[in-house]
Parts: sequence; structure tokens; C-alpha cells
Amino acid sequence: LRQQGARTTVSEIRADSELDPRVLRELKALETLLEAGGHREETFLSTDAIILSPGVPHDMAPLMAARKNGIPVLGEMELACRLIDTPLVAITGTNGKSTVTALLGAILEGAGLQVFVGGNIGTPLIEYAASGKKADYVVVEVSSFQLDTMTTFHPRVAVLLNVSPDHLDRYPGYGAYVASKLRIFQNQGAGDWAVLNDDDPVLGGFTPPKGVSLLRYGSDRGESRQACLEKGKINACIPGGKEISIGLEQWSLPGQHNRENLMAVVLAGLALRVTPSVIQQTADTFRGLPHRQEFVGRIGEVAFYDDSKATNVDAACRSLSGYDAPVILIAGGRDKGGDYTPLARAAERKVKKALLLGESKALLAQAFEGVIPYSMASDMEDAVSQAVSFA
Ligand code: ADP
Repeated sequence: LRQQGARTTVSEIRADSELDPRVLRELKALETLLEAGGHREETFLSTDAIILSPGVPHDMAPLMAARKNGIPVLGEMELACRLIDTPLVAITGTNGKSTVTALLGAILEGAGLQVFVGGNIGTPLIEYAASGKKADYVVVEVSSFQLDTMTTFHPRVAVLLNVSPDHLDRYPGYGAYVASKLRIFQNQGAGDWAVLNDDDPVLGGFTPPKGVSLLRYGSDRGESRQACLEKGKINACIPGGKEISIGLEQWSLPGQHNRENLMAVVLAGLALRVTPSVIQQTADTFRGLPHRQEFVGRIGEVAFYDDSKATNVDAACRSLSGYDAPVILIAGGRDKGGDYTPLARAAERKVKKALLLGESKALLAQAFEGVIPYSMASDMEDAVSQAVSFA
């Protein structure tokens, strides 16, 4: 914003003594005012716009006051979009966003295009905007919180992978969370593409805005579906194109959910005119991202996987379905207000024992009671060592 000639103030709830001195020096060098130790309502009411950090609750009193006074409240990504004119490819969904964003980025790069891959997955979009670089496409992972502060955000291709309960500690209800995901399509129109998971109970019946070319995928062939799984292949055909097949022999990501992720990528790739051979080559060599069902190593007969990015019930259930051998599950952490019964049901079939830790361990124990054996762990080290001896 300083680069664009704006006057800026940073409002921070912590006192400046608690802030990293490097940050303080950087703000000073940028000639940015710092209001530390709390947010003053006057600051919020006397500005032209407020750019919100993603972790900040939208219903904070000074923000509500600002909105009431007609002061725009934007997220970093919305701001960045207003500064760039590169066509956007956006990916959202409860689960699979990072995997799909990374793979789609790799496919566009494989097609010889200049691509910026960022957003919720890593580098903020504003860094691309500030760099002055010109890519052919920007591929961004978008969270529901980022979508909440979008007004003009307009992706040429928008992908919505799935919706299931998550972040219910920050939304008034599930309906509000779903609505926030659907905002990815809100500014789309003629010439744009929407890619949707047709097997998803929430998304199956959804229609995007008029003029948008809708591409649906699902496990079985269906009249309204442009991609499906058949005999170890993904078959796809988008309007105006030929039917193509992507073989799954070399595809290394486990589980049905990852085949769904690949279908979304195939459709988005075809919409962006990538050739099937580039899609095939990239899918064949893609090894997934760290912390997503990542194979860590093997000790004797025991294989270890890190799936610490499975941070909600559906991700954990789908992840369990991807393993053939019996599982010893380490689970826990922050409770986000969902129901753990589906996880207990999925665990019943696969899990021999669960080690529970963190804030939600009592709630998990309640759900697992009488379903699978579990014990409590004091921390991760304890959980791993108990899991190893049990295995
Ligand atoms: P996100 O960026 O949405 O958190 P990731 O690609 O990082 O998603 O994957 C996180 C975890 O979610 C994976 O390790 C896996 O356990 C699970 N997962 C991945 N794709 C899907 C999907 N399509 N549906 C349900 N769960 C998924």
C-alpha cells in the first residue's frame, strides 16, 4: 500500500514490547503509523479502507462500527485482486485445496506457462501484486475466511472441491460456512468456468451464475458430468473438446478423495487448454505435498504416515479410507465445533487403537467409547512412543 502511495496505519492488539523488533523497524522504514496495545475505534472510523488479517474475527466491535459507517473492509486477497489484471484460477473447498492448487500450478507450468501459485497455500497474493511481475495465470488457494472479505474477486476458473463441517467455531452455523464457500462464483459470468464435485451432497444441485460454463465431476458417468472414473482411468470431455482419458497407473496419491482431486484438476486444465499429454505427465510425476498422508518411513512391518493437515472430521475419515493395513491413529488438537461420530464410524472399520491428545481429547474419547480402544497421551512424543509399542 505504501508503494501505491497510500498512508497506512497498523492496528495491533498486542503491545509494541511484545512485537518482533524487526517488524517494528520495517514499519518505521515504511513510514507506517503503529497503533499497538489495542484497536481504537477512531482509527477505524477515520480511514478510507481497512485491510483485515485473515485470523481476525470479522465481528470485532471496531470493525462492526466501521462497516456501519460505510468504510470498506477488505481482505489481503481482495486488495491484491484489485491491483492485478492477470487471469485468476481459484480453488476452494473444505479439503484438498492445497493438493489441487499445487498440482494445477504444476500442470500449467508443464504447459510452458508463467504461473504464480499462492494465496492460502503459501505466498500471499499481495506479494505477486507488489512484485510487478506479469504471469500468464495466477493460481490461488482461497479459504472461506478469505472469501468472506471478497467483493470484486472474479476468477476465470473457479474450483469448489467439497463442503463438509469445519470452522464451526467461527461461523454462526453450517449454512453460513457453505454460503461463504459458494462466494467463489459470485462475480463470474460469460466466458468463465466453474468446476464442481457432483458427488458432494451440498454441491450436486448447485447452479453457478448465468453464462458460466459448468464442469461437473463424479465417480460414475452421468449425463451432466464432464469427468468421471472408469476402469482405472479418468475420462473427461468439456464442451467444444474431444473425449480424453488420463490413466491412473502412475498416480501415487492414495484414496478416492485424491482421485476426485485429480478429476477437478483435469477439468480445470482442459478449460485452460492444457493438452492431455501434459496433464498425464504431470499427474504421473506428482508426489503430493508434505504433511498430507505423507509417507514418513517404515520400521519393520510398520509404516508411518504424517497427515497432520487432516484438520477436520471429513479429511480424517477420507484419509483413513486410503490405508489398507490396520491403523493406529494419533488424533486430537483444537476442537472446531463439529461432530466426531462420523470419525468413530470410519475408525471402527480401520483403527485398532487411537492415541488421543490436545484440547479435544475428551470429546474424541466420548465418540470412540465402546467403538474402538483408545488411550490418552500427554504430548506428541508420548503418543508416538505409545503407538510404536502397541504396533
Ligand atoms: P486443504 O488445503 O483444503 O486443507 P490439503 O490438500 O492440504 O487440503 O489436504 C489436507 C488433508 O485433507 C489431506 O491430507 C487428506 O487427509 C484430506 N483430503 C485431501 N483431499 C481431500 C478431499 N478431496 N476430500 C476430503 N479429504 C481430503
